[in-house]
Amino acid sequence: MTIRNLVVVLGDQLDEDSPAFDGFALDRDLIWMCEAPAESTHVWTHKARIAVFLSAMRHFRGTLEARGWLVEYHATGTHPHATLAEALTATIALLRPEKLIWIEAGEWRLARELEQVAASASQPFEVRVDRYFLCPLADFESWMKGRKQPRLEHFYRWMRQRTGVLMTADGEPEGGQWNYDHDNREHFSANGPGLVPTTQRFEPDAITREVLTQVEARYADHPGSLASFDWPLTREQARVALADFVEHRLAGFGPYQDALWDREPLLWHSRLSAAMNLKLISPREVIDAAIAAFRAKRAPLASVEGFVRQIIGWREYVRGLYWHRMPQYLDDNALGAHEPLPKFYWTGKTEMRCLRITIEDTLAHGYAHHIQRLMVTGLFALLLGVEPRQVHEWYLAVYVDAVEWVELPNTIGMSQHADGGLMGSKPYIASGKYIDKMSNYCNGCRYDPALSMGPNACPFTTLYWDFLARHRERFASHPRLVMQVRNLDRMHPTAIAAIRSEAQELRERLRD
Ligand SMILES: Cc1cc2nc3c(=O)[nH]c(=O)nc-3n(C[C@H](O)[C@H](O)[C@H](O)COP(=O)(O)OP(=O)(O)OC[C@H]3O[C@@H](n4cnc5c(N)ncnc54)[C@H](O)[C@@H]3O)c2cc1C
Ligand code: SF4
Repeated sequence: MTIRNLVVVLGDQLDEDSPAFDGFALDRDLIWMCEAPAESTHVWTHKARIAVFLSAMRHFRGTLEARGWLVEYHATGTHPHATLAEALTATIALLRPEKLIWIEAGEWRLARELEQVAASASQPFEVRVDRYFLCPLADFESWMKGRKQPRLEHFYRWMRQRTGVLMTADGEPEGGQWNYDHDNREHFSANGPGLVPTTQRFEPDAITREVLTQVEARYADHPGSLASFDWPLTREQARVALADFVEHRLAGFGPYQDALWDREPLLWHSRLSAAMNLKLISPREVIDAAIAAFRAKRAPLASVEGFVRQIIGWREYVRGLYWHRMPQYLDDNALGAHEPLPKFYWTGKTEMRCLRITIEDTLAHGYAHHIQRLMVTGLFALLLGVEPRQVHEWYLAVYVDAVEWVELPNTIGMSQHADGGLMGSKPYIASGKYIDKMSNYCNGCRYDPALSMGPNACPFTTLYWDFLARHRERFASHPRLVMQVRNLDRMHPTAIAAIRSEAQELRERLRD
């Protein structure tokens, strides 16, 4: 049989309604999927991240085959190819399809690779625009035109207006305000969060159990554990996970978005990022469920608006910025940071309790919530001056939701300020006192968050002042950092010199 269209489906394109399948003819078209080992090893990937991709892909194959569609599926260990490019080249040589079809790849590297494969095989191909996102890339580029400093808040309002999400009939934001952030910065009292709602677990089925065994065997030396593996891996499961979040955690999402607590990595967060990034569930479906809960008075506006902003704001914004800035984004290093990533990022073996807890959560689950990523592991790397690319490779490796279009701008832009302020106007810097305020991590830590010098000084606090001193010229006139620079200027020069020398000693110790 001559194949008319060979439809390539990548591991993060598991969308049952994908435009890749528009006009699919079961007697003439073939779907092609491949588990390429290089995708699990190009960064030192957490076992749970590998398992999420492989199991979700195998379940998706089953869904497509249940429609009667033909899927040529190359499972791990059943083909000799290391990369997607090699495997696809071999298939093209064998089948000689009339045309290749795929949806815009989520990663710049893969987008180039697929085009190169097609070009070297002189193979006609069609790249279809992804309907899954709420802001097509072409629209984002039009929005960017003429903007030197894109800002999330402007983009978010524009998205609200064009989608009508949380807008009244007269074009005003629901409740009269665009943003309820000031209601959403709570932290817990010394008694902690109280009873945190439990989360729907998804026990591994036979397909997943086989994947877990294979991952343990093939990727034994990779970081992370599979012991608590319970991720949603199909569209049905993603819908159950969404319903569970809306029912039990959405109402508390807003106030406790930024709060941190020992051994509570999830709190009121949704845990939907992996399912969304694999396209098991659409952003539209997710926000519609949250808005329905608001209309039914089951969740307050501040929580629902805060949640919606993450999805139609941040998520679409970082995707636009990624494609706008690539491939330069990978090499951005505006603050000239060149330290190696400390080894404890891969083990959690450090006396800094906040980092130990966050990294242990990450290794146990492949998950940590946003503030753990931004204001614990990200903040420490920023203050220490770790080379941004190494920070990026760690984040891409250790989270089950990590796909480059969302991870890279969050790491290089938001967390490391390495894009020089493209994504956010100022770096997210803070001393150990911020972590102390937002969490109970400092209780029982051998360091004191209030101290910047001496054997008990909190490394975050030492490095915070060192950061301000190192980058004083760059940030002295920044309106949102001026107070912090003024506080630095109030310090005696000998105190600053002593802090900087302790910071340098810390750097040298962490290089070993
Ligand atoms: C350094 C760093 C690296 C990150 N890497 C990733 C990544 O690889 N993949 C990823 O999906 N997110 C990443 N994020 C963003 C965010 O931390 C995660 O989306 C979130 O923690 C996922 O957990 P959740 O589903 O419980 O999210 P919730 O807190 O419940 O938020 C709801 C949804 O909003 C979206 N969202 C929230 N914040 C962001 C954001 N800053 N950017 C884009 N979308 C957002 C996600 O889809 C998330 O599922 C990163 C953030 C930082 C600071
Ligand atoms: S004292 Fe410093 S190192 Fe220890 S937990 Fe608090 S912020 Fe982290």
